[in-house]
Amino acid sequence: MNDRFGRTITYLRLSLTERCTLKCSYCRAGEGVCPKKSELAKEEFLRIARAFAEVGVKKVRLTGGEPMLRSDLLSIISGIRAIPQIEEITMTTNGQHLPGMSCALKEAGLDRLNISVDSLKPERYHEITGGGSLSRVLTGIEEAFAAGFSTLKLNVVLLRGENDDETGNFIALTKERAVSVRFIEYMPLGEIDHANLRVTGAEILQKYPQLIHVVPSYRGQPARDFQMPGHIGRVGLIDPVSHRFCADCNRVRVMSDGMVRPCLGSNEEFSLKEALEQEGDGALHAVIARAIALKPESHCFDDGFSAQKTMSRIGG
Ligand code: SAM
Repeated sequence: MNDRFGRTITYLRLSLTERCTLKCSYCRAGEGVCPKKSELAKEEFLRIARAFAEVGVKKVRLTGGEPMLRSDLLSIISGIRAIPQIEEITMTTNGQHLPGMSCALKEAGLDRLNISVDSLKPERYHEITGGGSLSRVLTGIEEAFAAGFSTLKLNVVLLRGENDDETGNFIALTKERAVSVRFIEYMPLGEIDHANLRVTGAEILQKYPQLIHVVPSYRGQPARDFQMPGHIGRVGLIDPVSHRFCADCNRVRVMSDGMVRPCLGSNEEFSLKEALEQEGDGALHAVIARAIALKPESHCFDDGFSAQKTMSRIGG
């Protein structure tokens, strides 16, 4: 289905829960525990995924909060796998619950994994994430490779003075491994504004002029891809604030409470809850069509945007 600016929506980000294991300083510091009772049930997520597939969605990313906190995660994955139109299922995780799970995720039908890791220094990682264990993430990464998740993406949100001295160590990971390290610009999505700490993609390119621009893995991907000469893996720059890519945006988000959010950088949302209570899928399709039709042309991050929800609530 096309929006009113001619963009074809093929990508659904499904946030399975607002709950998270971690309290990353820039994401959900200060937030209380989100209520589990408002989360949709597995069957509701599957119905939504099927309805989106019927209007052209081909790819689903599971996210959160922390999607691995859902005890029915594997059956949600296998349920989405059974939808014929869905070509790819991916998941973004903080990696804390990954050890021991990679083979089961693969068998359930997960195609790709993005793992968030903002520091390679154990104490700093612990501090940024409000108590996370770096060794669990690194074990999870090794096991994911062994289970056959071949091109892992590692997400790194850079904050000036906090972890931007580690860019060289992250890039070094791409030397002998087919990982894609993605430096993500901080987006203004929380109560606390860290805009003054944002590190832009242009700064990374200035620091590493030897990075070679390479063709993106797929059209509409948020990252601009680069490679260090002689390295196997890639370095991705995701800089939505300083380097807008809205014209190519092909995605919408559904949150764990059944709200559709057509754009990360706009507070407008549409509820699927009432439509889910109806028997047929007519009402569900109508809300989806309306949300896609009204997707804003562009985010408002640099227009004094005041986010009502953090990324952990919307789904990263
Ligand atoms: N819990 C999972 C995780 O940690 O990957 C999935 C959800 S998390 C919200 C998804 C991604 O959003 C993470 O890579 C996180 O670092 C990123 N993120 C959170 N808040 C952000 C912000 N304000 N700006 C940019 N990225 C952000």
